Amino acid sequence: MEMQKAREADMLKSTFLANMSHEIRTPLNAIVGFSGIIAEMDTEEDKSEYVEIINKNCDLLLRLITDILDFSKIESGVMEYSLSDVNIKEICSEQYRIHSLKVQEGVTMVCDLAALPDVTLHTDPKRVTQIISNLLSNAIKFTEQGSITLSYTLKKDHILFEISDTGIGISAKHLESIFERFTKVDSFRQGTGLGLSICKTIVKALNGDIGVSSTPGKGSRFWFTLPY
Ligand code: ADP
Repeated sequence: MEMQKAREADMLKSTFLANMSHEIRTPLNAIVGFSGIIAEMDTEEDKSEYVEIINKNCDLLLRLITDILDFSKIESGVMEYSLSDVNIKEICSEQYRIHSLKVQEGVTMVCDLAALPDVTLHTDPKRVTQIISNLLSNAIKFTEQGSITLSYTLKKDHILFEISDTGIGISAKHLESIFERFTKVDSFRQGTGLGLSICKTIVKALNGDIGVSSTPGKGSRFWFTLPY
């Protein structure tokens, strides 16, 4: 049993490394290619279209590198947390604003800011932002129509964050493993398979919990809690 687990972990790592080269090369090629020809574009419209492609690929590359660096920090046990009083509504509002611009055509991002309570938590603002950003990016990536909703509610001793989407969903078989590192349901999709495992490590370190429920073809609901 142990042996088999070790072998599986080993195989996941090899697939990850092979995958990584592709993941880095694809956005980098787009950035190099499009920035090379942008000066020759005649119309402003063409130019801004290319700038948008370059921006999108820079984002991908940035997330990829952040994920790898965080992953290696977690592996070597040097991930640091810096706690302060954090305005939760402000973080959600900012993440909502940033990610609204990135949804696919035909998708609406929803966050009823007026209805959200004002909450101050003593936690790590950078890491909370990272989790929300990660879950929203995933929702955007896997939702081609409908909506993505960000909200949070106050419970007795914790705050519950929810990110729901009407995207492709996740089968019961895969639900169990997606928080494990290097796990991707569809290996042809962009991604390292590290995002959710990093989220889980961070949430646990901040004394919270994280989970998901999903119906294939209907959508997914990711949630996480932080003590209040
Ligand atoms: P990646 O960086 O590859 O997206 P994650 O750890 O963030 O890695 O996600 C792991 C896998 O979980 C994804 O490859 C995808 O198959 C699945 N997944 C995550 N979020 C969603 C979502 N909102 N809808 C459908 N599938 C999802």
